[in-house]
Amino acid sequence: MIIFVATTNPGKIREISKILEMPGISILTPEDINISLDVEENGQSFAENAVIKARAWCEASGYPCLADDSGLVVKALDGRPGVRSARFAGNDATDEENYTLLLDSLKEVKDRRACFVCELALAFPDGDVVLARGEYEGLILEEPTGDAGFGYDPVFLDPASGRSFAQLSPQEKNDRSHRKKALIELKQKLLESGRL
Ligand code: IMP
Repeated sequence: MIIFVATTNPGKIREISKILEMPGISILTPEDINISLDVEENGQSFAENAVIKARAWCEASGYPCLADDSGLVVKALDGRPGVRSARFAGNDATDEENYTLLLDSLKEVKDRRACFVCELALAFPDGDVVLARGEYEGLILEEPTGDAGFGYDPVFLDPASGRSFAQLSPQEKNDRSHRKKALIELKQKLLESGRL
């Protein structure tokens, strides 16, 4: 099966391509085909946004399209930044601006609990959409630590290893992350439905 990974986020492409490496699956990315698309993510949930992106890219490319909508849900901030994780500090904000605003918002806050959420939607040209979700719980650090990964990785403490996600090797992050959990569920659903 050819799966078009419908994202231009290099961090997501790296992780998804690595985790989906298996016989029977070939990956295409926006770099491989000459299509650029600006999809407005105006859904109220990760799932809604993932479906919007997957359907739009599927229509434009004709391939089964996998979209990832993900973000960080922080307990003490009533779930923010949530679906606005990429734009927390403004529409064109950098990862550093976003996590700096997060650290500022949590100054003096004792409850540091947070959860990475990844919702995947795989849209097929016949109109079918398969959804899968993964979550990973951790704590928000007081300051950025480590330089691997992307997004909020430097401020997210992984309780299992005692290190930030940005201190883990790509393999270590891929072995446990919200994205890995969602992809495992997706593969399972594809196998059960006979798509794979
Ligand atoms: P979107 O799914 O394109 O709306 O953006 C998701 C945003 O959530 C990213 O730009 C990151 O800021 C954040 N995010 C999602 N997954 C991860 C992750 O694995 N590590 C760190 N940040 C992430």
